[in-house]
Amino acid sequence: MPTTKGPSVPADVLTIDNLHVSYRGVKAVEGLTISIPAATMTCIVGPNGSGKSTTLKAALGLVERTAGAIRFFSQRVDKVRERIAYVPQRSTTDWDFPINVFDTVLLGTYPKLRVFQRPGTVEREIARRALMRVHMEDFAHRQIADLSGGQQQRVFIARALAQQADILLLDEPLMGIDAASEQNIIEILRELVAAGKTVVMVHHDLSNVENYFDHIIMINQRLITQGPVSEALTGQNLTATFGANLLGIGE
Ligand code: ADP
Ligand code: MG
Repeated sequence: MPTTKGPSVPADVLTIDNLHVSYRGVKAVEGLTISIPAATMTCIVGPNGSGKSTTLKAALGLVERTAGAIRFFSQRVDKVRERIAYVPQRSTTDWDFPINVFDTVLLGTYPKLRVFQRPGTVEREIARRALMRVHMEDFAHRQIADLSGGQQQRVFIARALAQQADILLLDEPLMGIDAASEQNIIEILRELVAAGKTVVMVHHDLSNVENYFDHIIMINQRLITQGPVSEALTGQNLTATFGANLLGIGE
């Protein structure tokens, strides 16, 4: 696709313009305008209830917005859905659903299949490799519900890998997981970004933002700031985002 920008200017792969979302009349996100540059690892941070999950869901069209324009790769989400992988916040998912690890990862290959096409040898190989990358191949036949939080989250990362998407939206994938799983996930995501993919992650732990991310979006219903971590992660912006009481940082 031709672009009007010069080749040295990285394109924005996701733009959200003036997003407003309310739940039964109560405002959750107000006038949010953000852009996510290609091939970056971007975090979205903000206090509980500040609209982080809502922003991802609204971008994907999973919750209704009262206003706002969303573009992925300069297109409407419905045109490019198979290029977008999404891992929802874990507590909101139904863990009793009876499905094993391998089939969960295989689901990642479905968006690229033709209507009525079943996953075949190629798809099974993609799923197997994705599982190996998260070191979960020995758990292929286990039920998702029987895994630890970190193991579950690695399986969902594997499903996103199997989708071979160009942008990954991950809602707090590191929340409540073990350190080894966290390192595994970060390593994989950094490799994807190095290969030109874009990662957007809602993230709760401010202590490792500088280590993990290139770009940061700070929100509290409205946009506080966005930019490279080295410029945007200032005390002033943190106070504006989280309020004066920052005692909870890094816990
Ligand atoms: P975060 O992910 O930053 O913790 P959310 O986007 O989940 O915040 O929620 C933003 C606000 O919207 C909160 O006040 C929350 O209680 C409210 N909210 C979220 N989902 C719903 C829903 N399905 N129905 C009603 N209110 C909701
Ligand atoms: Mg959330």
